[in-house]
Amino acid sequence: MHTTFVFDSAGWCQPATRIASPNQDDRPGNELPSLLVIHNISLPPKQYGGPGVIELFTNQLDANEHPYYAGICHLRVSAHFLIRRTGELIQFVPVLKRAWHAGVSQWQGRERCNDFSIGIELEGTDDEVFTAAQYAVLHDLATALRTFLPSLTAVTGHSDIAPGRKTDPGPCFDWTRLVGPTHPFSQEPS
Ligand SMILES: [Zn+2]
Repeated sequence: MHTTFVFDSAGWCQPATRIASPNQDDRPGNELPSLLVIHNISLPPKQYGGPGVIELFTNQLDANEHPYYAGICHLRVSAHFLIRRTGELIQFVPVLKRAWHAGVSQWQGRERCNDFSIGIELEGTDDEVFTAAQYAVLHDLATALRTFLPSLTAVTGHSDIAPGRKTDPGPCFDWTRLVGPTHPFSQEPS
């Protein structure tokens, strides 16, 4: 089943659950994004469906709730989108704004990938396959993004722009669901 996603002039997507993150700002020079970055995340790690990721992206993670949270609750991070295991799409940052998802990063010789990228988090871990519902939403979302933003021509993984520091989306992510002749992107990640 396909979903038709559309964007308003600010870069908010519909249909999506909207939970605004304070961890966003303007893109330098209001540059239009050219790179899509795929991530995975789950909080607590390998536990799905809870509020942890939303709490992290809205600066509401409770350090006392889980031992893992104590080490990350101080972070000020976000992504534009989270796709739940169920296929639910949550948007935290409009795509014309800069989300804080990539950290120290470099793509094709250019640093600070947040300046020129869109970040999509898939609820998951490096060593577990993603769901069919996630791939379906990712495909349709990427298609809509490319229509809204013709500047968006490349896709990569977080591990490719922050090697040695990040490992997501991990070996279980199937790039052939996103890249290929009938898919939103024609080029392999680089
Ligand atoms: Zn990541």
